Amino acid sequence: MIPAIDQDLRGRAREFAETVVAPRAAAIDASLEYPWDIVAKLVEAGFMGMSIPAEWGGQGRSFLDVAIVVEEMARACTVTARIVVEGNMGAISTVMAYGSDAQKRWAADLVLAGDKPAICITEPDAGSDATAMRTRADQRGNSWVINGVKHWITGAGVSKLHLIFARAFDEQGRDMGIGGFLAERGAPGLDMTRREPTMGLCGMPEGELTFTNLIVPEAMVLRPPGGFARGFAQLINAYNSQRVGAGTVAMGIAAGALDHALEWAKGREQFGRPIGEFQGLQWMLADMQTQLTASRLMLHAAAASRGPNNSAFPDPELAAQAKIFASEAAIKIVNDALQIFGARGYSKNFPIERMARDVRMFTIGGGTAQVLRTLVASKMLGWKLPQQRLSDISQPKLAAAE
Ligand SMILES: Cc1cc2nc3c(=O)[nH]c(=O)nc-3n(C[C@H](O)[C@H](O)[C@H](O)COP(=O)(O)OP(=O)(O)OC[C@H]3O[C@@H](n4cnc5c(N)ncnc54)[C@H](O)[C@@H]3O)c2cc1C
Repeated sequence: MIPAIDQDLRGRAREFAETVVAPRAAAIDASLEYPWDIVAKLVEAGFMGMSIPAEWGGQGRSFLDVAIVVEEMARACTVTARIVVEGNMGAISTVMAYGSDAQKRWAADLVLAGDKPAICITEPDAGSDATAMRTRADQRGNSWVINGVKHWITGAGVSKLHLIFARAFDEQGRDMGIGGFLAERGAPGLDMTRREPTMGLCGMPEGELTFTNLIVPEAMVLRPPGGFARGFAQLINAYNSQRVGAGTVAMGIAAGALDHALEWAKGREQFGRPIGEFQGLQWMLADMQTQLTASRLMLHAAAASRGPNNSAFPDPELAAQAKIFASEAAIKIVNDALQIFGARGYSKNFPIERMARDVRMFTIGGGTAQVLRTLVASKMLGWKLPQQRLSDISQPKLAAAE
């Protein structure tokens, strides 16, 4: 079934993207600076925290609504689109699904005021195998003491809300499993220790965070039903919305690149005619459009789906398939758009060059295309595949603990 789209929302998002975001995109990329001016306007327009339920001050918008806005922003500027993803999916939706009332109030207030939360999982020696993480949280009375290092954290240094995943140990030093701990930027012991020099997505810091005796009070620990051991499977379920968001950013970049390529094919003349009159380019354009339409349909189906047992998040397998397909298709579409531009596609004076750098990330972050294939295959075969512990905890049979 093809889910219905809120066309009014799409229209508002497109106008915002074209008038507010697009004119700033090249400068954000060149300056490497987080676009606080755009964030303030996203807040004004109601695009931050729109998925937060109305009782906490949001609009209770669906993940499909968020995906519509994300696509429109990504056509113009990847950094802005990623801010909208993190302002509505990922860590904020985890807190809204599993947090206490006090945690929800804290998180909703931050995001509605423009904060883009950070989700802290990856470590230097724990990438795809996230459960190999070494960051630890030791219980000390009514608090937890966190020590460890995370890297590739999106928004490091600019995000206020941090959702930190750490292996929890009780007072007796017993391993209780992986838990989710909430902390705010500026807390003593929470430091950004490095910024990654990235190929693209410039303007959104990717950084290393070091936790040195960071104290997290019990009231800031996420406590989903089932305790730490089972809780990680539930908390990580939020990644299924984040994956739909990441796939949608990739698809939106591809949609923007295709728009540019189409205009160029109509206007650029060689051999006495517009290059779009050559069949070689017409078929290229048709294939780009076909891949784009397929990506959009898969992402919308995933965004509108729900995982087993009334999960608050999209179906894990649909989200994984949509992200694999959309991210791989987007890389090809943007690459073909660059080809249609000829030499100018390789110039920083045209937006395709920035889009080609930005889009490359989306088969890596948020679960690589290989690891997501493992997740899909393990479900098809009905096996737990030995090489991928993270896929185990994403499986519905374990998420059934909900
Ligand atoms: C721009 C960007 C933003 C990011 N933001 C965040 C963030 O905000 N928070 C966060 O916690 N993390 C973040 N990450 C980290 C991201 O989630 C990891 O990069 C990703 O999980 C892969 O881990 P890795 O880079 O260590 O690669 P590795 O796990 O070392 O993988 C290397 C290669 O081996 C392959 N591989 C690994 N295991 C298997 C397997 N079982 N089967 C087949 N192939 C396999 C991978 O597909 C990959 O090709 C971000 C990454 C990027 C690039």
